[in-house]
Amino acid sequence: MNDIYDFDCIVAGGGIAGSLAAASAGRMGLSVLLAEEQGALGGSMTSSGTGPMMTFHAGSTQVIRGITDELVRRLVKKGLSPGHTVDSTGYTYTVTPFDAEGFKRELELMCLEAGVTILYHASIESVSLCAGRAESVSLLSCGKKLSARAPYFIDATGDGDLIFQAGVPYAEGRDSDGKDQPMTMNFRLSNVDIDSIRALMDKDASLFPFLRSKIGIQKEASRLSCSGFEDIMKDGIKRGEITFDRDIALFFETNTRGEVIVNMTRINGESPVDPFGISRAETEGRRQVWELYAFMKKHIPGFACAHLIASGPSIGIRSSRRMKGIYTITADDILSARRFDDAVVAFGYPIDIHSSDGAATDSRFLKDGEYYTIPYRTLINASVPNIMAAGRDISASFEAQASTRLSPCCGALGEAAGVAAAIAKRHGCLPIDVPTGELRSVLKEQGAFLG
Ligand SMILES: Cc1cc2nc3c(=O)[nH]c(=O)nc-3n(C[C@H](O)[C@H](O)[C@H](O)COP(=O)(O)OP(=O)(O)OC[C@H]3O[C@@H](n4cnc5c(N)ncnc54)[C@H](O)[C@@H]3O)c2cc1C
Repeated sequence: MNDIYDFDCIVAGGGIAGSLAAASAGRMGLSVLLAEEQGALGGSMTSSGTGPMMTFHAGSTQVIRGITDELVRRLVKKGLSPGHTVDSTGYTYTVTPFDAEGFKRELELMCLEAGVTILYHASIESVSLCAGRAESVSLLSCGKKLSARAPYFIDATGDGDLIFQAGVPYAEGRDSDGKDQPMTMNFRLSNVDIDSIRALMDKDASLFPFLRSKIGIQKEASRLSCSGFEDIMKDGIKRGEITFDRDIALFFETNTRGEVIVNMTRINGESPVDPFGISRAETEGRRQVWELYAFMKKHIPGFACAHLIASGPSIGIRSSRRMKGIYTITADDILSARRFDDAVVAFGYPIDIHSSDGAATDSRFLKDGEYYTIPYRTLINASVPNIMAAGRDISASFEAQASTRLSPCCGALGEAAGVAAAIAKRHGCLPIDVPTGELRSVLKEQGAFLG
């Protein structure tokens, strides 16, 4: 017989969405289990080395606030983030760099302060259903099986593992052929000569495609973000020094000056939820890291003395399973800046699809300064109605998910799911029956901007 533990709410996955869902529900009095398969919180942001957070703004309006912005303020106070700063790639409005170790610790503190029970090294193995509802999950941790029961569950695994185990309908990949966006093994380099790159931006904006119409914005950026050097990349591919499709050099300075996150490797043709596929992707990702590291040191200005600190550690997954919820947000909703009556998040990042086939990125922008909203109905489903989704596995079309997957949005979705679970508990109802007026009021009281 396994050990059985009881909670009000079980959150699967401790990325930004799951951590902030757990902290939000815990603050409202729920006993919460946060089950995370790694040994730290932050998910993609800490275990796949992604960042900076992008973007809290739509024009001059800060649209991501609430607990996600509280996280930033806490990091800033401890010198672990410079806060929101201009995006000097010119792609979006602001970026929010952070220290990855600080990020892990601060999320942990926020959960612990809210009374959340964190269970690390715990992978969701299976879900038991009773009368069409999830009753308990079986977890494997340290070679031991544990069971945990709750009336409410939040799938924040990014890959919809809980949803999949529970038999909730889901979609994966693009409609035409089911292919996901490429995976990427990010890596971190120190000792990069940022001043020399800034000087190049000042001198020749034509090297940086999104900067061409925003000349000079890099001067306002407290940390540098850079997207450019297309010709150097093209020549590298021609000479065979780069053996995969990538059209541009893309890197972001972290909280630590002279340290950058490089977001350039690209692994296509593998599914992130195929066990052997993801293992091949990890290996190929690391091969590309070493290839690019050598190439950048040799050819990209400012990188001659760069030092490789870390890859990943795990490969970054942009898209995988997406729950089929009561409503599926679409590209059209995003690009028309749609306002929903049951909106729980507002967001202003474009649709940013890294091609599943080649080097290109398909970017579709909202009108300057515009934002869209995300309805609560994308977090809930009719099939197993006491399971909610939060973060990158909410109910979104392939194209829409290419915007909603960004970390500030996932944090805000986590807060919405955690608060919804608390309201459901208060009323003794299913998430599907949560009064959305009340949900929105509580989110607003907690500082969220809902449009
Ligand atoms: C290469 C790349 C670059 C990116 N760059 C940026 C960027 O610059 N800015 C930005 O804002 N966003 C960026 N993103 C997007 C962003 O990092 C993620 O989409 C976002 O952080 C997802 O948050 P999440 O909490 O929904 O999921 P995740 O961060 O994926 O967290 C899911 C968590 O669930 C855990 N988990 C998974 N399965 C199980 C299981 N069965 N049992 C228990 N735990 C489980 C995982 O270990 C993980 O901790 C990037 C993504 C990629 C892949």
